[in-house]
Amino acid sequence: MKYVLVTGGVVSGLGKGVTASSIGVVLKACGLRVTSIKIDPYLKLRSGTMSPFEHGEVFVLDDGGEVDLDLGNYERFLDVTLTKDNNITTGKIYQSVINKERRGDYLGKTVQVILMVLLCFGCWIESVSSIPVDGKVDPADVCVIELGGTVGDIESMPFIEALRQLSFSLGKENFCLVHVSLVPVIGVVGEQKTKPTQHSVRELRALGLIPDLLACRSAQPLKDGAKEKLSQFCHVPVSNILNIHDVPNIWHIPLLLRNQNAHEVILKQLNCLSIATAPDLQ
Ligand code: ADP
Repeated sequence: MKYVLVTGGVVSGLGKGVTASSIGVVLKACGLRVTSIKIDPYLKLRSGTMSPFEHGEVFVLDDGGEVDLDLGNYERFLDVTLTKDNNITTGKIYQSVINKERRGDYLGKTVQVILMVLLCFGCWIESVSSIPVDGKVDPADVCVIELGGTVGDIESMPFIEALRQLSFSLGKENFCLVHVSLVPVIGVVGEQKTKPTQHSVRELRALGLIPDLLACRSAQPLKDGAKEKLSQFCHVPVSNILNIHDVPNIWHIPLLLRNQNAHEVILKQLNCLSIATAPDLQ
């Protein structure tokens, strides 16, 4: 199994969910079977009791799971049927670990937050990513994991550490990290500002995760100068810097990625260019 991790920097609501779903679409269009996992670093066990004014629609899955609306995007974009386990929350991990502790599964060992998240999270990712979601019997080829929140949030720290360890154990050819970040324009200056992205990449690197691709959200298409600056200061080749500017309809985003050859960069990183076909997104 190959994994594509999508993280977000600078601010929330950047479009990580839409970007992750669109990455899934271009990979699927190249002939790969794709599944997805959404990690929400909050304590809620299900989204049904969360305010839609704050979090958007509650998406109800076929198995009755009340989950984040991003799972709705994944189902619609990828034409898959996900399970409630495809949405991991801090609360679910804690509940699972506490149940195990009460059963005595840890045999008297000290159960610490970081250790328990690592143990439980690693097993969860492995077992959930291998559930077939497209009606076939075998597991998918690629699992797109979206980490909710913004890099640097206290809540997501255990997940970042767990994902760092996962990336190390999987090896470079099985793990691709796409960092979604903001490139704002300050009205009077009119220049695309790369500093917020530089800082968020620095934060990500300090936590041990190295981005393979940057997906930059901006109002207008990214200028060449901004791309070169991002490449120079974030240590990411220009070809791996994607621009996801504002579009009138989010269904344009897979095409935006395809037109920038995002599929080639991701497939090359995952060492599966040879088994992929040219993307068919008609
Ligand atoms: P996040 O997962 O980072 O919280 P979402 O994927 O839920 O963000 O997107 C937040 C909102 O922004 C959604 O309403 C989505 O439709 C919109 N959006 C995302 N990307 C774009 C884009 N490139 N152009 C226009 N709207 C977008």
